[in-house]
This record gives sequence, C-alpha cells and structure tokens, in this order.
Amino acid sequence: MSAYVSAFELFSIGVGPSSSHTVGPLRAARAFAVGLEAGGRLPEVVRVGCVLYGSLGATGIGHGTPDAVVAGLQGHAPETVDPDVVRAAWTSWTDGSPLLLAGRHPVPFSRGDVSFEPRTRLPEHPNAMTLSAWDAAGDLVASDTYLSVGGGFIRRAGTDAGARGAGASGDVAWPYRFSTAAELLELCEREGLSIAGLARRNEEALRPEAEVAAGLDAIWDAMAGCVDAGLRAEGTLPGMLRVRRRAGTMRAQLEEAEAAGGRELPGEWLGAFALAVNEENASGGRVVTAPTNGAAGILPAVAMYWWRFAAESRLASEDLDRRRGIRRFLLTATALGSLFKANASISGAEGGCQAEVGSACAMAAGGLTAVMGGSSAQIENAAEIAMEHHLGLTCDPVGGLVQIPCIERNAIAASTAVTAARLALRGDGQHYVSLDAVVETMRQTGIDMSHKYKETSEGGLAVNVVEC
Ligand code: SF4
Repeated sequence: MSAYVSAFELFSIGVGPSSSHTVGPLRAARAFAVGLEAGGRLPEVVRVGCVLYGSLGATGIGHGTPDAVVAGLQGHAPETVDPDVVRAAWTSWTDGSPLLLAGRHPVPFSRGDVSFEPRTRLPEHPNAMTLSAWDAAGDLVASDTYLSVGGGFIRRAGTDAGARGAGASGDVAWPYRFSTAAELLELCEREGLSIAGLARRNEEALRPEAEVAAGLDAIWDAMAGCVDAGLRAEGTLPGMLRVRRRAGTMRAQLEEAEAAGGRELPGEWLGAFALAVNEENASGGRVVTAPTNGAAGILPAVAMYWWRFAAESRLASEDLDRRRGIRRFLLTATALGSLFKANASISGAEGGCQAEVGSACAMAAGGLTAVMGGSSAQIENAAEIAMEHHLGLTCDPVGGLVQIPCIERNAIAASTAVTAARLALRGDGQHYVSLDAVVETMRQTGIDMSHKYKETSEGGLAVNVVEC
C-alpha cells in the first residue's frame, strides 16, 4: 500500500478550532445523517444521540465537538458550512427544539443528547464517537461508531483496522507508489522527477492537470485569506481563558516600523502570519487543515513568508513565478505529510503535539526548501531536521482550548521550519539521521507517551496553569 495521500485530503478547507475534534466529528455526524437518508430510514427516526469517548469526551467542549456534531447531523459539510453556523450550535441549543436531520427531517433534540465519556477509550483510537438513531418504538434504526483519526480524516470503527490513519487515498492506484522517504527519493532519482513533480503526477491520476493547479490555488487562496483575516481581527478569543488576539496588533506595529525605517522585518512577519491563522482557528473561523487545525498556522506562515519576502530574492529559483512556487510548496509538503500520516501519526490524541506541530513543521521546511531551489535530498534533510527537534513534544492545551500553547507554538515552529530549510540548503543533502528514522522515532515516542499528554488536558501546562 502506498503512503501517498492526496493534497486535497491533507489540506482540506474547513472550520476551527480542531481538525480531529471539530472537522472530523462534523464529517462523521454528516456521514451518519446522510447514510440514514440514503438508506431511506430518515422518516422512521424520532430521536438521535451521540456519545463522545476518550479525548473527544475529555476536551470536546473546548474544541467545539458537540457544536460540530449538531452541524453535521443537520447535513452541513466542513468545506462549505458558514463558520457561524457551527459556532455555539450545541452550546446555545434550546432543549427540545427540532433539529433538521440531514437538512430535511425534524427530530426533537436537547443538549443532553450529546454525552461525554472521557474515561472510556475505545480500542481502535482515542478519538471515537458513536452516533445512534431510534424509532418511535424505542428501537435502534442505526448506530455507527466513527474514529476521528487526525487531520479531519474519519474512519468507521471496525473498517481498515490494519492501516494507521488510512484515508480515502489508501484505495487509489497511484502511478508513483512509495511507503518510505528512502523509496520516495529513489523514485525521484529513477524517474528524473522532483518530489513535487512526482506528487503532481499522482494528483493528475485523479484530476486533469488544470484542475489540480486550480485546486492547489484554491487551497492557497483559503490559507492566504485566513492569514489576512487574522491580521485584521482584534479582541479576545472565545473561551474562559479570555486570550487576547495579538496578530492584528503585531501587524500594526510592523507596518509602522517599516513605514518609519523602511526596513522589512520578515522574521517578525513570519510569527505574525502564524499567530493570525491560529487565532482565526481558535475563534472557529475558516481554516485549512495543514495537516491539522491545531498546526494550521505553520505552512501558511512559511509559504506567505516566501511569497512576500523570498520569492523575488536571489534565494528563489528564477524560473518560478509565485503561484507555481506555492503549488510546488504544497505538493512537496503533501508527499512529506503522507509519510508522517502513514508511518506515524498526524493526530495529537495519538502521538502528542510532535505528531501535529512536528509534522507540519517538517512539511513546511521541505516545502520551503523546494521553492528555494533545494534538491530532493536537501528537502528530505530539511524535513528531518524540523521533525527531529520536535520529538517528544506533548499536547497539553490549557482548558482543552486550542490556544495555549498552540497559537505561539505555531509561530515558533514556523521559524524552526525556516531555520531547518536554511541549514539543509547550506548542505549537500547528505546527513546522519534519515527522515525515515525520525518518523519511526516519532511513532515509538507517541506510543510511549502517557495519555495525559495526548490531547486530554490531564497533564503538562493544562494542569499547571490556573484557568481564570
Ligand atoms: S498542543 Fe499541539 S497537538 Fe495539542 S491541541 Fe495544541 S497544537 Fe494541537
């Protein structure tokens, strides 16, 4: 089985604040409702319910999971739903009022129809949820358990159990199949392709060339739109922490400094771009999973940094225009992200923050190296450097909100990605620790990590910072 996951699955346009706790549950609830409709069972249903297990139960409220469940049951999809429809859909629900199942069949619904079982961990995955529907006699019409396996990917429990984090891409007969970074490099060498070129050929197996380009441009436009929205927003983020948004203030300071001194401040803008995306994510805005929502700021920040400051400098390949460069960036990141997803994890609930922010940092480092003219070996080296220094990073969000440490952590990881790319570009691609060794180390470290540090908010900063 090939590791490759399509760019259009890895980078999906959705809503904040969490890919595994918001986007995945929304998709699962929608799949359940649409399944009832497709099976002609909708008219029988008089009651629906959802049980959130493990990490979904532990930090679900802070991540908007029950809100996402309500939106999904109503038939909304993460790609198209208005973020305002998801925000507070469950939190502000009037008990007993009708919910339009699959957008058409009314059933009375109360907040208590979503229940939380944080202490129950289903064997297949820590992020599990069971959706059930009953008829007027109290008999079950349907009941399905879904696993939210990270990055907004879902899986029905009991299916494809042998594959770690498999998505729909697992079924595609990709023209270029690889399962490790070593195989990827070998394929590129043998076929005379760059990593991005190989990924593009794979994408073109599913869509015409023009559609691939347009789709990648749409992903970039959504990422850039998110950066822009975050840089223009002010106020505090939702939730009891009352965290102040900083990206807008930082933008104003940087613009003022540049206007006064005329000197560009790329490193500081890089941090502002990342804060902007993660603040948008924390507020439940429109975000692209990259490869998750919690880590959604790193790739857009690094790509925007290149777009604004490096694309026209001598560091960029002269033959690239910026749009083509961004496509190369995203395709390179896709091939690298596929390796993390297939051979370790991109889910904080499964592998801790190393799996989310570490993977995103490595993808961004590889993407930046590619658009700065690096070879495949240098790209692999950059991704390895970036991941190596995230090994062991725990997930301990304060109050179960994707805010502290997540928002700043994306800014730090964006700067690590740039450093990793620069280090790799100064070398010849030869290095001691392979990307495959680091991916496997991340997988093993994730298994060894206590569940307290895997998106349960039962350890680390989550228990040492007083919520007020
Ligand atoms: S600490 Fe890391 S893995 Fe955990 S929610 Fe925040 S960004 Fe995601």
